[in-house]
Amino acid sequence: MFENRTERPYIDGGLLPPTERYVFEQMHFHWGESDSVGSEHVIDGKTYSMEVHLVHFNLKYGNFKLAINKKDGVAVVAFFIQASEYEKCELFGKITDQIHNIRELYSKTPLESDCLEWMSLQELDKHYFTYHGSLTTEPYNECVTWIIYRTPVFVSKQQVAAFRDLQSTDNTNKITKNCRSIQTPVQMPPVIFTGTV
Ligand SMILES: [Zn+2]
Repeated sequence: MFENRTERPYIDGGLLPPTERYVFEQMHFHWGESDSVGSEHVIDGKTYSMEVHLVHFNLKYGNFKLAINKKDGVAVVAFFIQASEYEKCELFGKITDQIHNIRELYSKTPLESDCLEWMSLQELDKHYFTYHGSLTTEPYNECVTWIIYRTPVFVSKQQVAAFRDLQSTDNTNKITKNCRSIQTPVQMPPVIFTGTV
């Protein structure tokens, strides 16, 4: 853990509330039973093999648990991952090459400090969607500013399949899918796209 919370990575600017700073809390992955499903967002009817979420909380609320009770409490940066026939994505491999070490619950493995370099395959200052919505897991609070990059990161089928080898909480079954089904909001929130269409 970090002694000083301001030393943690953070995001600000863009379409986030001015002067607010969102501190990195955790990163996790969603996937599906096949390569054609797995993302939790659908863009123009298209789903992707996986969706990565980088969860941040608004620094002024002190921690993630308190922040989820606030409308402007959380910002999640999302990337789509698409399994393809192409070669393995070496940058994403810095994560997926280690998955076999953490198949069992509570196991750990070190990762290289540049294991998030695959994000640099994107132009990070544009071509993303933003809307205000909810957490996609319980308690589903409406506290999230979503930042979703349009262009997927292409990886190999084996790299996506590695996630389906992770074991569930009972350590007997594998996690074949962990994505929430698409929801129909009572009122469709405005969605802003940044960059050229
Ligand atoms: Zn998520």
